[in-house]
Amino acid sequence: MTVQAVLFDLDGTLLDHEAAVTAALLRWLPEIGVEATAPARALWFTLQERHLSDWRAGRVTFQQQRRHRLRDFLLATGGPVGGDDDRLDALFSAFLRWYAQSWAPYPDAVPALDALQRSGLRTAVLTNGSQSQQTDKLARIGLLDRVGPVYTGEALGLFKPDPAVFAEVCRRWGLPPGAVVSVGDRHDLDVLPARAAGLRAVHLDRDRSGPPGEPHRITSLSELPDRLPSAG
Ligand SMILES: [Mg+2]
Repeated sequence: MTVQAVLFDLDGTLLDHEAAVTAALLRWLPEIGVEATAPARALWFTLQERHLSDWRAGRVTFQQQRRHRLRDFLLATGGPVGGDDDRLDALFSAFLRWYAQSWAPYPDAVPALDALQRSGLRTAVLTNGSQSQQTDKLARIGLLDRVGPVYTGEALGLFKPDPAVFAEVCRRWGLPPGAVVSVGDRHDLDVLPARAAGLRAVHLDRDRSGPPGEPHRITSLSELPDRLPSAG
């Protein structure tokens, strides 16, 4: 079956989420009296993952996971604990303002989207984030009009790594799974479950961290469309 379309992940694939969070923490933590050390920043990422997975599992709302993340972070770092949800929301909003100001596409994102479209391939985004935030991100970095449809876990009610999310996206997109290639930075989220659903997949291994043995691996989006898996 011929490849007809490429389904991109967003954070870590088209948008440099880690750099944006790091830039935001470096500005925001001193404002709230927390030293922006490497361990403090690493803790933020750990708590982000932990509480987002609670949200994806349906245990808390999106806003609750933000409050829980911030509360745990402040307790661990000696930040200004105390106060009600409104205060936590205000603190988190200040982080989000810095975060949004730091959103930027990877330099290889726009050229890759252009090259794929010149090759006659369709594109879309599948992201585990919230519909409003992920759409806002794409708009802010100038990609919303060029990526094609945006599918989010929140809107689908299914999240990566459930293979069903990939099957559902293909159904809604009107494409057979075998004609779609998933491209993303997480081998466990973007590659393995896509293949389990019958798609092809390419691992975007920007930091060359593996896993070794992955046959379809690129280290930059500039390798597309040449390195798309050939017809099976
Ligand atoms: Mg990602």
